[in-house]
Amino acid sequence: MTRTYGPVLAGGFWLTAALVAAALVATVEYRRGSTELTRLESQAETRLAEKLAQHDAHLTALAAVVRMEPADPSESVQGLATAVTAFYPRIIGITTIRGDGKQPVTYQYGQTPGPAFDPSDELPVLETPGSTAFRSDPAGARYAIYKLVAPGVMIRMDIDADGLVADDTFPTGYSYRLWLADALLIEQPANGPALVTATRSTAVTSPSQPMRIEVARGFSVAELLPARVILPVLLLLGIATWLGLVFVRSVQARRREELRATLFEQEARLAHAGRVNALGEMASGIAHELAQPVAALLTQSQAARRALTIKRPDILERALDANVREARRAGDILDRMRAYIAGETPRLEPVPLDRALSDALRLAEADLARRGIEVSEDIAGECAVRIDVIAFQQVIHNILLNAADALTGRSSPRISIRAICDDHRAIITVADNGPGISSDVLPRVFEPFFTTKRNGMGLGLPLCARLIEKMDGSLEAGNAGGAVFTIRLPCEGLR
Ligand code: ADP
Repeated sequence: MTRTYGPVLAGGFWLTAALVAAALVATVEYRRGSTELTRLESQAETRLAEKLAQHDAHLTALAAVVRMEPADPSESVQGLATAVTAFYPRIIGITTIRGDGKQPVTYQYGQTPGPAFDPSDELPVLETPGSTAFRSDPAGARYAIYKLVAPGVMIRMDIDADGLVADDTFPTGYSYRLWLADALLIEQPANGPALVTATRSTAVTSPSQPMRIEVARGFSVAELLPARVILPVLLLLGIATWLGLVFVRSVQARRREELRATLFEQEARLAHAGRVNALGEMASGIAHELAQPVAALLTQSQAARRALTIKRPDILERALDANVREARRAGDILDRMRAYIAGETPRLEPVPLDRALSDALRLAEADLARRGIEVSEDIAGECAVRIDVIAFQQVIHNILLNAADALTGRSSPRISIRAICDDHRAIITVADNGPGISSDVLPRVFEPFFTTKRNGMGLGLPLCARLIEKMDGSLEAGNAGGAVFTIRLPCEGLR
């Protein structure tokens, strides 16, 4: 599982971590950019306020001079206006306006004296000398400040708003807008699209020119995620993820190793417990199996004695040969029992399927017969299965005794053993006509210690499954009328 999903999980982790890291980097960059925006905006606001204050100071000075020389053109006013417009190029016109609002007489001072503006402009109504008013040019970028010098005498100062914010005030990526009251004087757009934009807006303190400046900074993807920061971060994350994956894998491998060791240990104990448990059950089968060679030994020994009396060495020889055969068979049975109980490592050997089954069946035959169970055997095809004979017998014995238990008290109890084989695989089914295995029991029958019997241990089937697996086969439980157990084993054809 780890091997299949590990890289995918690690990829997912890396992607998530990369997204989080990117979000963090973007947040830091955004905050840094926003702090810089605040600094530049406040600097621009201070400079702007200074410039607006200069306009007020010039108007005050001009008003004083106009008051001293009340007739136009005035040399003193011209001198001051020329100096002011020369030093402050954004002040593009200084005009005196005399008379009432209907028939004003204007005179423009400064570097280009003459009429300054369209006299049809509606003049502001100012009552107290020294008071001011402003008018912005609807065409944008310009505005005028009016100051009442004395009753019927006003000064107008025209300002080019473009000169209020120096070109180098804001670096690339910034945009700003400048308002005079509600009129937009300047709009300097950003150059290029932005992913997110931060904005600051401040009112500039000037009683004669109530301005507001709004500065915005757009952040492009490259600015929020600068390659010099994000690439090393992603690389470090990649290395950390890889190291994490290696670590997790080594921990998992160690755990698997420990688990396997524990399982082996448990399995060995389980197998032994199963054998000891089955030993009692098999005792009658063993006695039955041994009874045959022992009876044959008795018969042949009696025959040998008679042959001696009647002096028939040929009969004597045959009887003794038979005795040797039967004694060997009994010895084999006892050897297998000893090996089985001692838990010796399985020895897989090719055994003809029919012999394997009938040998296994023989162990339970007596018990089944005693319980009145009819057993049928149907083997199609000839092949040799590679089995550990003892283990295979134990499996069949266990399945048969389970069936016998299930058949207790049933009428016409029957067990049918069927086997088919081809050149590769043998399929053996042991079916009974008992109640079958209920749907809640069926998924659990191979669980160690699961039993529905009062005196059951729940070790038989898990052990059988394990033994068959060791022979490269499989064991399944199901229902077909009663219960049916299916064993699949590799096999080879008989030559
Ligand atoms: P035990 O025989 O000690 O209960 P097993 O592992 O051999 O342990 O069997 C587990 C359970 O499987 C049994 O308790 C029984 O419920 C169910 N089982 C096994 N064989 C049959 C069968 N032929 N018919 C019905 N149930 C069966």
